[in-house]
Amino acid sequence: MKAIRLYEFGPPEVMRLEEVPDPHPGPGQVVVRIHAAGVNPVDTYIRSGIYPKPPVPYTPGADGAGVIAAVGEGVTRVTVGDRVYVAGTLSGTYAEYALCRETQVYPLPAHVSYAQGAGVNIPYATAYRALFQRARAAPSEVVLVHGASGGVGIAAVQLARAAGLTVIGTAGTDKGRQLVRQEGAQHVLDHSAPGYLAQLTTLTDGRGVDVILEMLANVNLGKDLGVLAPGGRVVLIGNRGPNNQGTVEINPREAMSRDATILGMSLMNTPVQELARIHAALVAGLENRTLRPVVGQEFPLAEAPRAHHAVIEAHAYGKIVLVP
Ligand code: NAP
Repeated sequence: MKAIRLYEFGPPEVMRLEEVPDPHPGPGQVVVRIHAAGVNPVDTYIRSGIYPKPPVPYTPGADGAGVIAAVGEGVTRVTVGDRVYVAGTLSGTYAEYALCRETQVYPLPAHVSYAQGAGVNIPYATAYRALFQRARAAPSEVVLVHGASGGVGIAAVQLARAAGLTVIGTAGTDKGRQLVRQEGAQHVLDHSAPGYLAQLTTLTDGRGVDVILEMLANVNLGKDLGVLAPGGRVVLIGNRGPNNQGTVEINPREAMSRDATILGMSLMNTPVQELARIHAALVAGLENRTLRPVVGQEFPLAEAPRAHHAVIEAHAYGKIVLVP
């Protein structure tokens, strides 16, 4: 089969398309014929060597969607021919086939395309965990999705709207703001406009927002604390300074005076049982069409380097996917 492989860490161009042996499932494992692979910012951090390094050579990618091509001994949850989305693999999704544990694949409803399925795992699981397991957001609360036009942001807008929250989303372009509104935000702000957070006073009748999902904490956390309602929670999802080590100045008194909570999160820390709950909710949301992954750009597998440039550099309008 064809697969992207890396022998060293570095710029996007270290990724090469190669012919490698097809995977075969062991006990409790399945092989998925990948029809689309999701590209996430974390793939670029691992590739560049600033995150814990997998042994080389390796094939990137934790997200994808396709069809079960083979099942190993003892597999009971899926059978050959089932449409699935993939939530992590043993071999990487930037390839024609991926080897997974049977617990890493979930049903993909017939009305959801493979490209959309490739945009489910990291974006939607992150948004769900941030909103409901970390911030414990409740219906009727107001959430600010600070960076709503990207993969995690759009997922958060759809999840929050379906759960009965009032959703305020931000984006840096007209096209991004139009997308955020179309996906369910009642109000949309421009995070590139000076003083844009002042509009929250009017939008919340002076109360502030209950929950903030923060995609760029190194830029925004200081300002976020000043727009929270009493008892407000900020979930830190993204932080992107040099080498992902950005720092930010905050005024702790802004948090103290509101009894506010600052919550960190990394999806990979999610306990197994909570992850199972997340995917049960995501499968239900895909089935009942409240969750509709938005595909921004599709690239052929061979153009993985271009896709990595795009996911970091361009304005986000939904997910970037690779098509093997
Ligand atoms: P993405 O698709 O590239 O989207 C990036 C988002 O950030 C876009 O909505 C972009 O808006 C927005 N943004 C740009 N400038 C901003 C600003 N000044 N203030 C607020 N938002 C701004 O990335 P993603 O997949 O959604 O991921 C978002 C971040 O979360 C990334 O840093 C990623 O590494 C991180 N992440 C963390 C976890 C975790 O477990 N903690 C999991 C998944 C992702 P415009 O393009 O419209 O300007």
